[in-house]
Amino acid sequence: MAEFDVDLFVIGGGSGGVRAARIAAGHGARVMVAEEYRMGGTCVIRGCVPKKLFVLGSHVHQEIEDAAGFGWSIAAATFDWPTLVANKDKEIARLEGIYTANVEKSGGEVVKTRAVLEDAHTIRLGTGQTVRAGTILIATGSAPNHGAMIPGIEHVISSNEAFHLPELPKRVVIQGGGYIALEFAGIFAGFGSDVTVIYRGDNILRGFDEDVRSHVRAEMEKAGITVLTGCTVSKVDRHGKEFTTHLSGGSSIASDLVMFAIGRHPNVANLGLEKAGVALNPANGGIAVDAWSRTSTPNIYAIGDVTHRINLTPVAIREGHAFADTVFGKRPVQVDYATIPTAVFSQPEVGTVGLTEAEARAQFSHVDIYKTDFRPIKATMSGRDTRVLMKLVVDGSSDRVVGCHIVGDAAAEIVQALAIAVKMKATKADFDATFALHPTAAEELVTMRTPSARYVRDAAAE
Ligand code: FAD
Ligand code: NDP
Repeated sequence: MAEFDVDLFVIGGGSGGVRAARIAAGHGARVMVAEEYRMGGTCVIRGCVPKKLFVLGSHVHQEIEDAAGFGWSIAAATFDWPTLVANKDKEIARLEGIYTANVEKSGGEVVKTRAVLEDAHTIRLGTGQTVRAGTILIATGSAPNHGAMIPGIEHVISSNEAFHLPELPKRVVIQGGGYIALEFAGIFAGFGSDVTVIYRGDNILRGFDEDVRSHVRAEMEKAGITVLTGCTVSKVDRHGKEFTTHLSGGSSIASDLVMFAIGRHPNVANLGLEKAGVALNPANGGIAVDAWSRTSTPNIYAIGDVTHRINLTPVAIREGHAFADTVFGKRPVQVDYATIPTAVFSQPEVGTVGLTEAEARAQFSHVDIYKTDFRPIKATMSGRDTRVLMKLVVDGSSDRVVGCHIVGDAAAEIVQALAIAVKMKATKADFDATFALHPTAAEELVTMRTPSARYVRDAAAE
């Protein structure tokens, strides 16, 4: 009898776990994946995909409004929230089926149950059955934070529930100034809700380029979203179907929905980590791993959000792939975390890759900034009061473009392509030598010739 039932047991059928399972099975490993909720994980079931479908749906109102300037008259367009939710659910169910089928097609087995560690090689399933595995991969993802236990916290929803609301709330209060808060602010506002964003700091999107932060905020406010900074939610009262949200400054807001999007925590609770000798990273509460995603127990690895490194789907996928190639493919691969593009699907959208201006100025002695802020061609006809921001951050000594930041329609699509150039260490001269593609918004990226700011550190003064 074989020493182990399987070569690899994956806990968690999300983005990272599924990729690792498929690649390991392709390398000939006997693989089992346990998923306690729905195959596909956060991204597919209640993250990136349904979020993007909602963003696309909510953006339609802009198309309708903008149509008039182009000669269209669209009479009394109406929107039905239950239809949107039902169609989204149908698509998510389809994708869930594909995720299960893909693992099975690769030769892996899917078990629909919770799995926890019994010891370094034993997994206990929700059914009570145990499985012995040579290698274990923990890919259990993350869950929304609730924050402080303020009075009325039970009335507050997270992004998990936002995907299944029975009706569109007329007035929405969202606490948080990061990805999820701003994406849902745009979604609800787009469908016609009156939205207030509550953020504790001085401006939303901390960590993003300062010009991006102020541009997004100004555009959101122009679109009618109220952004209140320097305050937090201290209490939520419920009166029937209505809520009163009390703020730290003493004011209050009436709404039909209160949502918190204040970060996420790694799913490490009650997993049996201590029984298997798997240590946590005290700095972030995720599972501690080395550059190979190996935990403190040599045959146990962890990838994706549960390690709380960079919580994005493509990162979880790449970590899962690298793990499977390294451990089962005889091809050691470490993930290169440099230059990861990212987008916030707010309205307008943010696309960014590389360093912010502040990061570049801290790192390089000579930094050139190329920046433009313009009215997109469509707005000249639609009359919409909106502007696009494009910004390049250049290391003046090497001429390399080390950062690119866009706010405006299709920012994410543009930055995905631009990320190749930045990753290949393209210089500003390479950008300048590239023909413009006219008429586009993105052509601005290759036509900005004069720096809008130049920072040269005085070496003598340091
Ligand atoms: P997950 O995909 O979360 O998978 C973990 C799985 O493990 C889950 O299915 C869970 O049910 C299961 N599980 C947990 N514990 C157990 C157990 N003990 N036994 C069995 N199963 C278990 N990222 C982007 O790149 N782009 C986006 O646009 C984007 N949008 C997002 C929008 C929202 C609202 C949210 C919440 C996240 C978004 N993300 C986005 C982040 C992205 O979803 C995550 O980074 C990604 O899903 C992490 O993948 P993972 O494999 O680590 O974990
Ligand atoms: P973020 O970390 O992006 O934002 C959290 C926000 O909540 C920040 O504004 C933060 O403020 C604030 N906050 C944190 N704690 C508190 C608190 N106790 N009280 C009040 N405010 C608080 O997390 P999200 O929840 O928006 O998203 C989680 C992660 O999921 C993202 O970081 C990202 O990795 C991933 N994601 C990616 C998306 C994409 O790629 N498009 C979309 C959605 C999610 P401060 O800045 O001051 O700390």
